Amino acid sequence: MISRHKFFVQKEQIIGNKVTLTGSDVSHIRTVLRLKTGDSIQVISDSDKWLTVRLLEVKAKEVHGEVIASKTVSLESPLAIHLGQALIKGNKFDVILRKSVELGVRSVTSLKTERCVVKIQQTEMSKKLERWKKIVLESSKQCGRTQIPQVAEEVETLETFCRKNNDQDLKLVFWELEENTTLKNIKLDAKPRSAAILIGPEGGFSQTEIESIREYGFQTVSLGPRILRAETAPLVALSLLQLLWGDLQ
Ligand code: SAH
Repeated sequence: MISRHKFFVQKEQIIGNKVTLTGSDVSHIRTVLRLKTGDSIQVISDSDKWLTVRLLEVKAKEVHGEVIASKTVSLESPLAIHLGQALIKGNKFDVILRKSVELGVRSVTSLKTERCVVKIQQTEMSKKLERWKKIVLESSKQCGRTQIPQVAEEVETLETFCRKNNDQDLKLVFWELEENTTLKNIKLDAKPRSAAILIGPEGGFSQTEIESIREYGFQTVSLGPRILRAETAPLVALSLLQLLWGDLQ
């Protein structure tokens, strides 16, 4: 049997053409998929290759297999989008993470801004981060991405995000009060290959924040006449960017 389920493994788990799976992957293979020696699975290891691996040994704690085929796939967008998203209420940040991965985001950074109502205590951060990384991994698997998007380790300030993303080809802050600039009429010298984008919290960015973001070379951009909710805006922005310069079609 060939299972279409994809397993993400660390590079160290592949030595030559031998692959070792451990942890929850083992129980998935044994009890969920009920695979046995001789069956095959798909393995991805943060590269542009999908490996077909035939199971050699299915043990209680480890599964060993060998690579029998390898296929180069291109599922990563030519536009690397780095999303800076203000923290928002409830599980909405989780939803944004999951959907952004499907829309081909390269990295997501949570931001603390003036009007953020959500605060994450330092003590909660490692748990949150673990959860976010798990969501990103699951979503990557589900949509078959070959590169797992990065999740920033800390909640950052706007200044830090702007500074870190100084070199991106496009630097945009989505602002509902922008009246002229839209993605369609932005002036470009060449097709951008990277973009840093900022989306505010439920209450939006303050005027002072917009001014300081602009000082870092970000331009304000409108997404049209309606105010989109904080969880809708990043998904629309990602879709449009991918359509214009990335790989949505
Ligand atoms: N508090 C604001 C709306 C904030 S919406 C108000 O009620 O007026 C949350 C975020 O989504 C904003 O900070 C912005 O980044 C983005 N956004 C929503 N609608 C937008 C639009 N029409 N154009 C550009 N950005 C938008």
